[in-house]
Amino acid sequence: MNTGIKGTTKLYAVIGNPIEHSFSPMIHNRIFKTLRQDAVYIPLKIEEEHLAESIPMLRNCFEGFNVTIPHKQKIIPYLDEMDADAERYGAVNTVKVKDGKLIGYNTDGYGFIKGLEMEGVLLKDQPVLLLGAGGAARVAAFELLQKGALLTIANRNIQRAQKLKEELIQNENSSKIEICRLDEINQGYVCIVNATPAGMSPYEEEIPVSVEVIRKSRVIYDLIYNPYRTKLLQIAQQYGCKVINGFSMLFYQAVKAQKIWLESQKIEEENFQSIYQEIEILLRRDSQ
Ligand code: NAP
Repeated sequence: MNTGIKGTTKLYAVIGNPIEHSFSPMIHNRIFKTLRQDAVYIPLKIEEEHLAESIPMLRNCFEGFNVTIPHKQKIIPYLDEMDADAERYGAVNTVKVKDGKLIGYNTDGYGFIKGLEMEGVLLKDQPVLLLGAGGAARVAAFELLQKGALLTIANRNIQRAQKLKEELIQNENSSKIEICRLDEINQGYVCIVNATPAGMSPYEEEIPVSVEVIRKSRVIYDLIYNPYRTKLLQIAQQYGCKVINGFSMLFYQAVKAQKIWLESQKIEEENFQSIYQEIEILLRRDSQ
C-alpha cells in the first residue's frame, strides 16, 4: 500500500480524549493534499494525566497540532507563547512548533464568524441569545460582542453565566450583556446560538429552548455538527427560520490553523470548496 508517507513527511496531529470521532484528520489530510504538502495529520489519543509526558514528543516530532477536549486549557502552562485570541478566550485549539517553541492560537472564533458570514447574517445592534456558558459559548460571546450584537447569555447554571458576563465586561468593556436561566426564556430573538450539547449524543431528543421561542426567532445557529440537523434545527426549519449548523465553524477553524502552520495568510479558501462539500455530504449521510 502506498500511503505517500516518506522520511521527509511533516507530522501534524490532533490531541484529545476521546478522539475516535474527530473529523479533523479527514479535513486536514484533504487540505494538505490539495496544497501538495508533504505532510500527514493523525489523531493522538492523550489522556489528561499523560499530557505532560507527551509534550517533548509533540515539540520534537511535530510541526503543529490541534488541541481538543480535555486539553484546551490544560495545554497553556506548557506553551512558550500565546496569541491574542487564545489569551482572550483562555483556551488554545492550535499549536505551531517554531524553532523548538510551542506557540498557542485559537481559531474557533474565526470558524464561528465564518458560519454567520457564509449565510450573510449581520448582527450589529441586533438581539442575540447565546445558550450555554462553557468553552464554545465563551468564544461565541467574545465574537458576537465584537460584531456589535446585543447579547443575552442563558445557562442552566446561572452563576456560570454571571462569571462569563463579568469576564466579558472586563475584557470587552461592554454593557450590552444580559443573563438568565435557560428555563426563563420566553421571547424570540433575531439570532439564537446553541453552544450547549443539547441535541447531540446522548441528548439527541433535547431542545435547549421551547418551540414557541424558536417560532418567534429568525436565525438559529447550532454549533453541533453531528447530527447534521439537530432537533432544534429541524423545528427551526419547519417554522421557516434560517438555520446554520456547526460544520462551517469546524471546517474554517481548520482552514485558519493551516494558515498558521504554513505561515500563509494567502491560502485561497476557494481551493477548499470541494473538500467542504465532500465532507458535508458524508456528515449529512452519516446522520441519517
Ligand atoms: P462545555 O465547556 O462543557 O460547556 C457546556 C455548556 O452546555 C455549559 O454551559 C452547560 O451548562 C451546558 N449544558 C450541558 N449539557 C446541557 C444540556 N443537556 N442542556 C442544556 N445545557 C447543557 O462544552 P463546549 O466545549 O462549550 O461545547 C458546547 C457545544 O458546542 C458542544 O455541543 C460542542 O459539540 C459544540 N462545539 C462545536 C464546535 C464546532 O467547531 N462546531 C466547537 C466547539 C464546540 P451548565 O454550566 O449549566 O452545566
